[in-house]
Amino acid sequence: MNTKIQRLSGTIAAQSSAQGASGVAVIRVSGSGVKPIIQKTIKKELEHMKAELAPFYAQNGNVIDQVIALYFQSPSSYTGEDILEISCHGSIAVIDEILASLYQQGARPANAGEFTRRAFLNDKLDLTQAEAVADLIESTSIEVARAAKNSLEGAFSKKVFSILDSLAQLRSTIEASLDFPDEDLEETNHDKKLAKLFRETRNSYQTLLEQTQVACKIREGMVVAITGKPNVGKSTLLNQLIGHDRAIVSDEPGTTRDTIEVNTTIDGYSVSFVDTAGVRKTDNKVEKEGIRRALEATENADLIIEVKDATQEKITDAKEANENHLIAFNKADLLNNKEEIKPKANNAFLVSALEGRGINKIVENLSNRFKGSKDTELTITARRRHLTSLKESFKSFDVARKKEKNNEAGDIVAEELLQAQNSLSEITGEYSSEELLDSIFNKFCIGK
Ligand code: GDP
Repeated sequence: MNTKIQRLSGTIAAQSSAQGASGVAVIRVSGSGVKPIIQKTIKKELEHMKAELAPFYAQNGNVIDQVIALYFQSPSSYTGEDILEISCHGSIAVIDEILASLYQQGARPANAGEFTRRAFLNDKLDLTQAEAVADLIESTSIEVARAAKNSLEGAFSKKVFSILDSLAQLRSTIEASLDFPDEDLEETNHDKKLAKLFRETRNSYQTLLEQTQVACKIREGMVVAITGKPNVGKSTLLNQLIGHDRAIVSDEPGTTRDTIEVNTTIDGYSVSFVDTAGVRKTDNKVEKEGIRRALEATENADLIIEVKDATQEKITDAKEANENHLIAFNKADLLNNKEEIKPKANNAFLVSALEGRGINKIVENLSNRFKGSKDTELTITARRRHLTSLKESFKSFDVARKKEKNNEAGDIVAEELLQAQNSLSEITGEYSSEELLDSIFNKFCIGK
């Protein structure tokens, strides 16, 4: 672990626009060698952020292309270093020749994510913002793009920094009190102040934990396992939920022998439905394997929709239903009107997958999960690693809070708070390892 990791050296160049022929391509150069490269290839002075139409010269003096050259002077650039952005005609031959010429003039090919990594190392972005750049580039729906933009603008890190501030305040209050006798502390209402600060920080943690959970779902989507006995209508329900026939529907029990995973979007958010093989006792080897996979999918799912045959079960009885376990009483069309009583539990639904009745209510329930609680004023994107660090941090904080309540020694409480600070700092990257940075930036494309 290290606070700020080694700087990256050398001047780098790469194509930042998509690969392949295009109308216009953008090549980006960053580093201390940008100015000499401009002198040799553009052969004129460029002003900060002023686009110039100019010939781009190869080393032998030939003009490769007419380009728009845009110079950003350090530190006012994306990476914090001098940057030259070249917009050229998007021919593969032209791009290759310009890049070759830049390499001859002392630049080297950029590694994956190296521009953004430099921005992070030069304090232009914190780690959550750098990750939001990748999320924004990869986003395939406007909802995810918007959430990533909010994170990129610092909406997520601001919340993390605010808790970090509270932890620092708690620690300094506790550490300062170590030197004072108890009578003095009583006079200044020390304990009351501390209890209030602990309470407020705990509330902030809880809100952020909730928001981060929703934010993870926004980015990574939600896995929903559809479970239930054979022939209750799981495949038919899946087809209704995704709007077209994907699973094989059959009235012979045990036909869905493998798990079927279908990715779709609900209100722009990604949802994977896993239709599991009906779990029942069987000697059939293939079906057994299907059942094993079904159980595995159920364990890994964010949510389970258990399908039951409404003609076979008491539909008022839905005790197992909870927020993460919905029950769909299916085949409502086979009930006569008298029997058609609405299931009582909040997370149970009476549906007819065959006729498409009641499906909207399930879709609405799923969609609401991406919206979080009502006080989630801003949607953000977050990753599992953020959630893990946040949970770890909260755990240490809560230990500190309990120890303080039990009047344990101040330095022990402060030690736990320090642990909480460190876990939280991993999110924004103040406290991070080279391996963590590699794992994040290696997933970027070259040129980003
Ligand atoms: P699975 O084994 O749980 O995946 O069940 P399927 O989706 O393959 O459905 C089994 C049988 O039940 C098929 O003949 C379906 O047409 C029928 N079925 C499914 N849903 C309904 C429903 O809502 N009403 C009625 N009447 N039949 C249904």
